Amino acid sequence: MRAYNFSAGPSTLPLSVLEEAQREFLDFAGTGMSVTEISHRNKAFEAVVQEGEALLRELMHIPDDYAVLFVQGGASTQFAAVPLNLMHRGKADYVVTGNFSKKAWQEGKIYGDAACVASSEDKTYTYIPDVSAIPFREDTDYVHICSNNTIFGTRYVEFPDVKAPLVADMSSEILSREVDVSKFAVIYAGAQKNLAPAGVTIVIAKRDLIGNPLPMCPTMLKWKVQDENKSLYNTPPCFSIYMATLVLRHLKKLGGVKEINAINEYKAGLLYDFIDNSSFYTNRVEKKYRSIMNVPFVTPSPELDAQFVKEAAANGLVSLKGHRLVGGMRASIYNAMPVDGVKALIEFMKKFERENA
Ligand SMILES: *Cc1c(COP(=O)(O)O)cnc(C)c1O
Repeated sequence: MRAYNFSAGPSTLPLSVLEEAQREFLDFAGTGMSVTEISHRNKAFEAVVQEGEALLRELMHIPDDYAVLFVQGGASTQFAAVPLNLMHRGKADYVVTGNFSKKAWQEGKIYGDAACVASSEDKTYTYIPDVSAIPFREDTDYVHICSNNTIFGTRYVEFPDVKAPLVADMSSEILSREVDVSKFAVIYAGAQKNLAPAGVTIVIAKRDLIGNPLPMCPTMLKWKVQDENKSLYNTPPCFSIYMATLVLRHLKKLGGVKEINAINEYKAGLLYDFIDNSSFYTNRVEKKYRSIMNVPFVTPSPELDAQFVKEAAANGLVSLKGHRLVGGMRASIYNAMPVDGVKALIEFMKKFERENA
């Protein structure tokens, strides 16, 4: 039996997509070969890349003057690619709202004067700083944010309105809610949270900002080079791109991002309402900033938390252990988590509370 998998990443994928991939695994598009065996220059594979890009553009309403890239190295490699492509005056402002934005900031410091201009570390990242009150520097090359904080379970409600190019790590929420891409200079996301197996990273970048990477920028990290080569500069992560394309087709069939967002709000609402009405479970995040993708919660004690994780797994609800920085539990309820999975979790939470309160 398939488990309900609440892993933060790599994470659950739509069952219909896995079945489709399984059906055509040995003979992809009539080639007589698996998609894992064909050349990335094969016409059948080039069509996959083109379709994936077109679907992403359609679903996210990406303007034509933005490049859409499929690259490797995970979101963590983009922590370096961002300064290497954009830090022309040697200055960048970072908003630190969790572990990943902190890592991005630290990586930025390797290349220049990267400043943390606002942080929510004072309250263990349980909120997002007021974006209208952040002292961004006049001459910063860009402003970097992480729009959804996977470990701490927060998300931006409003985005900073800045003159400098706005760069966002959207790894754990891409395609989960509508965003106005034109407000951002660059959006990047590792695929393994909400889109595909690990291996591919999406970069969406305004073309007029990527033409002039720093001289020291490795060729592979130059967005311009990736754009000119349509993400086929070298051998790309073919299978992950193929899977991403299948997931994008699936999302389109569901009705697009607006529809998916409505389902996500509904799922998260069920879980948060249940937690809020319980005196046994607690979510520590400031309500306004609660993520609809990652929901951390605790019971009254670390011992009960450990017991919860173990018993939940025995009941087919797996990977609920919270990140080591936070403890407790975390339910990642990405696009591919069915409503029934969230309902099953809530039923289990009720039962566990009855037995242990
Ligand atoms: C998982 C995650 C990362 C790290 O992604 P890798 O692909 O493992 O490098 C970075 N940022 C956010 C927001 C994440 O959720």
